[in-house]
Amino acid sequence: MTTCLKCGYPRKPQDIRCPRCGVIYEVYNYYVSQQRESAEKESRNIVCPNCGQSIPKDANPCPKCDALLCFDTITPTCKERIEKLGTYSFGQMLLQEREYIFEKIYTETDLDAQIRYFSLYALLFSAGYGLFLGIFSGNLQIIASLIKVPMLLTGTLLICLPVLYLLNTLVTYKLTLKQTLTLLLVSTYMMSFILVSMAPILLLFIVITELKRFISLLNMIMFMIAGFFSIRLVLWRGMQYLTRRSGSRPKVFVISVWILIYIVIGTQLAWVLRPFIGEKGRFVLFREIEGNFFLALFNSVSDLLK
Ligand SMILES: [Zn+2]
Ligand SMILES: [Zn+2]
Repeated sequence: MTTCLKCGYPRKPQDIRCPRCGVIYEVYNYYVSQQRESAEKESRNIVCPNCGQSIPKDANPCPKCDALLCFDTITPTCKERIEKLGTYSFGQMLLQEREYIFEKIYTETDLDAQIRYFSLYALLFSAGYGLFLGIFSGNLQIIASLIKVPMLLTGTLLICLPVLYLLNTLVTYKLTLKQTLTLLLVSTYMMSFILVSMAPILLLFIVITELKRFISLLNMIMFMIAGFFSIRLVLWRGMQYLTRRSGSRPKVFVISVWILIYIVIGTQLAWVLRPFIGEKGRFVLFREIEGNFFLALFNSVSDLLK
């Protein structure tokens, strides 16, 4: 004998409705079978840590965002990409298959090697950018800026690390201190890389213009571009990846606070470490601290428009 799927009351063949709970058998049975089907489909799916969409378990790369999913399944389409990755340096991996670096941070693979690689190149690239920046005033300013730009990036990282680590431990996916450090270093590397790639443009303008305000504004814009992309592509995406990969939903608010702290500390430290460009023929190591970054940006823009 069959029973009502909702309440379990015995069902007579001639009945359309259940006499106890009142459901229409056909309608309710259809609803139940639909529920079962979608539950089954869900259990065969995973959430792509890169784009957050539900995708089949055995898909690789992700059919929605094309990210390489370096878990277990190796499909013919991703085999070549995975083999290629083996020949890449960490820097190349980051530029071409960003998610692979995030996955390495998640699984805590090669963290020491990554820390060494990314800190070394971040220092080199940022020093390179500093050198170009110092050329405007020449002489000692070149050496000062060559040291100051790496100091700025490393300083921001070190000041932010404990707070970001704590915030993470309290509210989102719990990264270890080493994982947090690696993610921040990757972001710093990305920033230095973008800065040093724009250095020739900076040099061109240093050669053709005598206007310090213009170089100053150009430098700020370059820092903003580099900062935006390193935060967007590494910190933001990385935190989302790591949270999704650990099976929870990314908390956008927490990640935003995380990033806001980083930006505020970075810009303020930059302000403290000034001058980066200096004055021609007059070398000062540090300037007196006055005002703040946002005021300076406003002044630069309004000066230039005068
Ligand atoms: Zn019933
Ligand atoms: Zn995806």
